[in-house]
Amino acid sequence: MQDTFDILIRNASVVDGSGAPRYSGDIGIRGDRIARIGGLAGERGKLEIDLGGRIAAPGFIDAHTHDDRLMLSNPDMAPKVSQGVTTVVAGNCGISLAPMPQVPQPVTPPLNLLDEDGKWFTFPTFAAYIAQLKATPAATNCALLVGHTTLRVVTMDDLQEPATPRQIERMRGLVREALEAGAIGVSTGLFYEPAIAAPTEEVIAVCQPLKEFDGVYCTHMRNEGDRVVDSLEETFRIGREVGVPVVISHLKVVGEANHGRSQEAIDVIERNMAGQTICMDCYPYTAGSTVLSADRATGSSRVIVSWSKPLPQYAGQDLDAIAKQLGCSQEEAVKRLSPAGGIYFRLAESDVQRILKHDKTMIGSDGLPHDAAPHPRLWGTFPRVLGHYGRLLGLFSLETAIYKMTGLTAKNFGLKDRGVLREGAFADLTLFDAETIDSAATYEKPIAPARGIASVIVNGAVVWQDGKPTGSRPGRVLQRETARAET
Ligand SMILES: [Zn+2]
Repeated sequence: MQDTFDILIRNASVVDGSGAPRYSGDIGIRGDRIARIGGLAGERGKLEIDLGGRIAAPGFIDAHTHDDRLMLSNPDMAPKVSQGVTTVVAGNCGISLAPMPQVPQPVTPPLNLLDEDGKWFTFPTFAAYIAQLKATPAATNCALLVGHTTLRVVTMDDLQEPATPRQIERMRGLVREALEAGAIGVSTGLFYEPAIAAPTEEVIAVCQPLKEFDGVYCTHMRNEGDRVVDSLEETFRIGREVGVPVVISHLKVVGEANHGRSQEAIDVIERNMAGQTICMDCYPYTAGSTVLSADRATGSSRVIVSWSKPLPQYAGQDLDAIAKQLGCSQEEAVKRLSPAGGIYFRLAESDVQRILKHDKTMIGSDGLPHDAAPHPRLWGTFPRVLGHYGRLLGLFSLETAIYKMTGLTAKNFGLKDRGVLREGAFADLTLFDAETIDSAATYEKPIAPARGIASVIVNGAVVWQDGKPTGSRPGRVLQRETARAET
């Protein structure tokens, strides 16, 4: 008897990624696509999975990652596929692995979040980076942004200055090259030292090619604290003047003095949504994580050191405990630990919930995959949204939570036939138990696969099964396809 399907998933509760209520059905996969959804009792599959009523959802799309290098150095992508992620958007916060004609030594922070040693900054062009991802695919799909800070490092001698017209011209050429090669947009990290000196006009000028390629503008804004509203206005202006959609990365309001101001930020965003395309992503934690700095430590109620090059033995410990052991001030401890990374507790739970819950908010992990003791968001973001915030706190229905990590994200980034379960769509699926799914990663024990994930399928190939990677690496580099691009 001939097998009808390559994979047949029986007795699923299908949550299709659109936000619509779940329904019972079977799913037949042929090649890299979903061939049938419905009652397939009489059919056969080469591989059959009986879910017994558990959930089949579209594979999750991580709207905000720094996985540029992880896809090459750890192509199993365990931190991501273990929590059901099948596509990552990489190159965020102004930092992308390419283009990098010459390896910077030492690697300028925050570029060192991708690779402290600089060994992986070996792609002179964006096209060379994409060619490598295609030659040695990862387990997940990706969509790629080119980073403004990377372009500044490549183009400028003095990062403390605004770019000159010639430097802007060069950066604009590199943006064009990246978009031609397959990048879907540009990211900025105006918050970070190497980009702080860039005026709004520089960003607008560098981003010019985005319009022609229908790209997106993603930003780690200049200020997420006292001046968050000014930063939102700057972001909207860049979007309007370039004429492209904007993605506000990891929307939050930091610092105790600003707790509660998420409502104000959302009000400003909603008012501007009437006139231009705006969306945002968010991670489900009250701590952020980035390069270790004394300034950021001062504004935080607690700081955990996530990695340190000179003193690696302190990774995972609290900064104040480290300072005591070293017999010095926190500021001095930061100096001795650097270059290093930190996890900063400086958000209010009520702000995190308000932003997470907003109907335009996508889920993005912002995980830092190369940290010795990473923020638990790296392994736990998506299951925590479904388990802790969805099932336990009741912040939203399972269908809504899944929409925020699938259909909404695919729409915002223009990822056609992704983020949805329907006949003809790509077979990216996450199969899980709605009753048990949650993050197992904690600040104390940050590296742990999620609970409740049964199997994860990318382009019709099983990449995660029985709590481990299968070794299959079917990931593709995705292009942005929108209604406008098709006409
Ligand atoms: Zn960021």
